[in-house]
Amino acid sequence: MSRTVGRFAPSPSGRMHLGNLWSCLLAWLAARSEGGGMVLRLEDLDPDRCRQEYCDQVMRDLEWLGLDWDNEPVYQSRRTQAYAQAFNELERQGLIYPCFCTRAERLAASAPHRSDGTAVYDGRCGRLRLEEQEELSKTRRPAWRARVPEEIITFRDLLQGNYEEELKRDCGDFILRRSDGVYAYQLAVVVDDAAMGVTQVVRGSDLLSSSPRQLWLQDRLSLPHPEYGHLPLLLASDGRRLAKRDRDLELGRLQEEFTAPEIVGRLAFAAGLIDRRSAISPRELVPLFSWEKLPKEDMVL
Ligand code: GLU
Repeated sequence: MSRTVGRFAPSPSGRMHLGNLWSCLLAWLAARSEGGGMVLRLEDLDPDRCRQEYCDQVMRDLEWLGLDWDNEPVYQSRRTQAYAQAFNELERQGLIYPCFCTRAERLAASAPHRSDGTAVYDGRCGRLRLEEQEELSKTRRPAWRARVPEEIITFRDLLQGNYEEELKRDCGDFILRRSDGVYAYQLAVVVDDAAMGVTQVVRGSDLLSSSPRQLWLQDRLSLPHPEYGHLPLLLASDGRRLAKRDRDLELGRLQEEFTAPEIVGRLAFAAGLIDRRSAISPRELVPLFSWEKLPKEDMVL
């Protein structure tokens, strides 16, 4: 078996909140408890939301918590060529088409919403004739979608067990490149996980339904499948998902009240790795980590 390589993949669009720390701590523990490596990728593809200062802050925050990584961090914003190559390969296989829908049209063109609230595109631009595409290109820059097959993708998640999706029905043709030219998360993440030698992806269960798309893209691009572990989410006290705008659980605020070992201790307690909310370092938690101990349900912290 090859050596485990886990990864941090934060989106540097603001300060990290408790939910991000939760994912980072458990991804790090999962890899390090197997003697594995850990890489850091800054998912700064969206130029409207990401800034270098946030990237620097993410790295300071991870270090402050006691989480380390191997090698130089990878910035997605500097990897456009690798994404272009993968995109061209998918195009060569006839799996890509331009989509001229505006946001409003896209919403109107979507079938019933999937369970996570996102819309399933009905594929209408995939049925345009060449002349229609040419006509529309005169006034609009298209986004580009992957044409997914009627195929069921199944995999076994380390925490959530078996998960399956029928791509066409549950997900629909998804965007690979935005109309402003920015490559989409789904494509970038697949290219980068492979390029960085990642064998284990541990992240929040809000991304569980992205995995079938990523597995499908890996197959199309002849890339290996990493193993996946999708963590339960930490919820705000009213049951909502934590977001960057929940400032009270953002690290800057938490640091005013707690030390790093205290924060790590609370997360470790929530994860079932220790039986009291005591202060502890990530290093000390390494021998205590096991997948069996982790909760499977989302929780309010
Ligand atoms: N950048 C994503 C986030 O911060 C994580 C992507 C992933 O783990 O695949 O939510």
